[in-house]
Amino acid sequence: MCAVLARARGRRGVHPSIRCDGIVTFVTPQAESILELFRSTGAYLQGHFRLTSGLHSQEYLQSALVLQHPAAAEKLGRLLAESIRELAPGRIGLVVSPALGGLIVGHEVARALGTRFIFLEREAASGKMQLRRGFTMGPGEATVVIEDVITTGGTTVDVIEVLRAAGANVVAAGSIIDRSGGHADVGVPRVALVTMQVAAHYPETCPLCQRGIPVVKPGSRPV
Ligand code: ZN
Repeated sequence: MCAVLARARGRRGVHPSIRCDGIVTFVTPQAESILELFRSTGAYLQGHFRLTSGLHSQEYLQSALVLQHPAAAEKLGRLLAESIRELAPGRIGLVVSPALGGLIVGHEVARALGTRFIFLEREAASGKMQLRRGFTMGPGEATVVIEDVITTGGTTVDVIEVLRAAGANVVAAGSIIDRSGGHADVGVPRVALVTMQVAAHYPETCPLCQRGIPVVKPGSRPV
């Protein structure tokens, strides 16, 4: 049993579907059908990728490729909205996402919840999240934060900070994919449709590098 599998089996209440050479998926009831949606739209990339961390991996989920299909985006938003409702049963007034990655899924979650949808942007010079374009929120308005993919949760945390400073009551956060293996803590109840941990290698010990396979950044088209 590989170390990742051993860790996964140690988690309560999850039933991991695992390949020791690839992605670990903690299977929620809908996780497998979500991954199938990624596969069928070419968003489940197989190849040799350099992650933001600098580590190399042979699999990558490019959510933009599934969200380019409005029907798929609507389905993902609806499922995420259902999970959010379980997490935060009270009235929700607002969905907020960070641009650009969270825009489409956040919009679809808001549609399913019947709320407004607004977004935050990073200011170019400082890199700080900002509320712009005249977007406002009511005092104490129950708000959820939606991203497409969470890796460390840092972006969601930045968004929550801005919203709280503006008077919002952030009641939950959600993403389609959680790449933290469930470990990301954003300070509010959080849910993801698929929770996974990507098996990754240091470049020096990467088996794909050793086989001479060119590495690409996710977002670039793999060979
Ligand atoms: Zn490599």
